[in-house]
Amino acid sequence: MISFFRGGRNIPLGFPAGVGMRGIAERLHELTAWPAKVLFPPVCAGCRRLVSAPGTLCGECWPKLRLLEKPWCEVMGTPFSHDMGEGFLSAEAIANPPPFRRARAAVSYEGVAQKIVLGLKYADRTELAPWMARWMARAGAELIADADLVVPVPLHPRRFLTRRFNQSAELARALGRLSGLPFAPDAVRRVKKTRQQVGLGAREREDNVRGAFRVPSDADIKVRGRQVLVIDDVFTTGATVSAVSRALRRSGAEAVDVLTFARVLPGDFRVEDPTTI
Ligand SMILES: [Zn+2]
Repeated sequence: MISFFRGGRNIPLGFPAGVGMRGIAERLHELTAWPAKVLFPPVCAGCRRLVSAPGTLCGECWPKLRLLEKPWCEVMGTPFSHDMGEGFLSAEAIANPPPFRRARAAVSYEGVAQKIVLGLKYADRTELAPWMARWMARAGAELIADADLVVPVPLHPRRFLTRRFNQSAELARALGRLSGLPFAPDAVRRVKKTRQQVGLGAREREDNVRGAFRVPSDADIKVRGRQVLVIDDVFTTGATVSAVSRALRRSGAEAVDVLTFARVLPGDFRVEDPTTI
């Protein structure tokens, strides 16, 4: 998974004696791949240092990515420091049962993970989406196994016009390709232009997205009686994915699960932190 860029690449101009047909084919492949690498050299998703393949981290950034692993809360996917036994729930899940069945995230939203998320969101680094989706598939394997379709958190059409890019849709599309699940970008629509969630407290976030999503009547048939997997880039307080889940349940979805690339762990949320989006 991890790869390193070790200085310049040697591109041989001739073939040494004794190289078989397969060797020649491999070298030809290297030669044809070379111009693309020179024109668009792959850079580390965390620090933009050169790496050998698109969507990889350099040796320095890799250890800074905190993958979320079991044991975790069966509902919220937040990790426990030690194994509490099968089916044990976090205080968060018990105090505020969410409208979704389960949430999972691949990494903790800090440091390098923030740079990756912001790179996809604002720097149009679309090449990161398939790579991020692979980590999401790992964390959300159980959710994917149960799902009938993947649905991204939609942007308001006007915001989509100005940004022309919905990072959640890119992740959902990549995850659909990876898992073979149908990708349904129009299953949920954002009907209210909401404020950006940055800088809002947990309660304000909830108010901001209340009634913001709806399943359009022509998409009703896609979600009724189905198990829907909602995709977003970051789970912060869960206000947005909860509002999307409620809209889906109102339209008859049998169950809704939520899979994000990153997750702000309980206790890490700071209103004043501009990176908690
Ligand atoms: Zn790096």
